[in-house]
Amino acid sequence: MIDRYDVAVVGAGPGGSSAATFLARAGRRVLLLDKFDFPRDKTCGDCLSPRALGVLRDMGCLDAVVALGHATPNMRVVAPWGWSVGARLPQVHEWPDYAVVVPRLTLDDALRQCAVTAGADFRPRVTVKFVSADDQGITLTGSTPDGTPTYRARAAIIATGAATRLLLTMGVLRGPPPVMLAARAYFEGMSDLRDAVEFRFDHVPLPGYGWVFPTSATSANVGAGFVRTPTNAHRMPDTAQAAYDHFIASPPLRAVLAGAKQVGPVKGYPLRTDFVTAPTTAPCTLLVGEAAGLVNPLTGEGIDYALETGQLAARHLEAMLADDDLSATRLDAYDRDLRARYQDLFVFCHRVQARYMHPLAMNLLIAAANLRPDLKNRLVRTVLGLRQPPFEHNR
Ligand SMILES: Cc1cc2nc3c(=O)[nH]c(=O)nc-3n(C[C@H](O)[C@H](O)[C@H](O)COP(=O)(O)OP(=O)(O)OC[C@H]3O[C@@H](n4cnc5c(N)ncnc54)[C@H](O)[C@@H]3O)c2cc1C
Repeated sequence: MIDRYDVAVVGAGPGGSSAATFLARAGRRVLLLDKFDFPRDKTCGDCLSPRALGVLRDMGCLDAVVALGHATPNMRVVAPWGWSVGARLPQVHEWPDYAVVVPRLTLDDALRQCAVTAGADFRPRVTVKFVSADDQGITLTGSTPDGTPTYRARAAIIATGAATRLLLTMGVLRGPPPVMLAARAYFEGMSDLRDAVEFRFDHVPLPGYGWVFPTSATSANVGAGFVRTPTNAHRMPDTAQAAYDHFIASPPLRAVLAGAKQVGPVKGYPLRTDFVTAPTTAPCTLLVGEAAGLVNPLTGEGIDYALETGQLAARHLEAMLADDDLSATRLDAYDRDLRARYQDLFVFCHRVQARYMHPLAMNLLIAAANLRPDLKNRLVRTVLGLRQPPFEHNR
């Protein structure tokens, strides 16, 4: 007889491990599946925002994660023409007032371990090929090196990140969503590294961004990404690696990287920022994190939304399971909750990206932010995805 779980979570990145932790801790029988064995790498900038750290505190693993990485209370934004504005991270909603940079190789394994400690049954090397719903709940069809297992659960959470094959096969996505492209590498032996997470808009294609995120006092994750649309494709690089190569060959980055050694390969990966139009549910199923298009289009931050929506989906599913009600109405309540929290922010970020991510506008904004503390405060909060940008107050 096939074992039946309360919830099957597909994908053990931050979104899946967060959901699995909260559901298992609530006493639910949770199956957590991933196509890889852990620890596994995930191409990323590795920066955990205060918002992400707030969820890690709720998960009970904040101290363990901070111990794995490099914490800094400072951020810096560099304008296309090179001038910059620096700030301390603000205290918001009782979240920590610092950022932490933790390589995903170790971060994701720690989060997965947190879910296992809470009681989730983790199975590695299971690629989920299909998820279907019937009156009895959910059936997941997997593929492993040894065969094609089937799993049963009352409900599912899909947390597969920017890998869209499962959602396309299920018909949840009708076609490939638009994506940003980004690439990064690790460097060691940096002698002149600032103690700040640095978002750079110089020597990158706009709309786009570069970053230098310190993983220690002398090492960093360095990368660049950009948005390619049908209208700007002719002036954009062909690949994320091309944007990255241009970025690190620029004079300011050559100075930052002087004497440093690249460790490991340059790796690129897409980012889904299409939450505004993305589906967030399927029958008996909730989508979390990047599977729901939740990456900030201005900064590429997505770990925070993945952790947060994992927690939110767990809360919704726990209530649905307690009431034995997985109806479309209850699933829609999850979608409405996500829209209430993020829709305005994401609509706004896309608008800002289209209208203001030009050299002149960004130079003026960053220069002005250096003169006006209120503007600087709003700019910092915008970059952190905390509020609407300073130059438009209403939609
Ligand atoms: C270059 C780059 C830089 C970035 N920098 C940052 C940053 O600094 N800070 C930040 O907050 N965000 C950053 N992001 C975004 C961030 O990496 C993602 O938004 C975040 O990882 C999303 O978490 P998730 O749990 O939704 O998905 P993921 O972390 O992608 O996890 C998905 C998991 O699902 C598994 N999976 C996929 N398909 C299947 C399947 N069919 N069956 C079984 N398992 C499956 C995968 O193996 C994976 O483990 C960056 C992204 C890129 C590409």
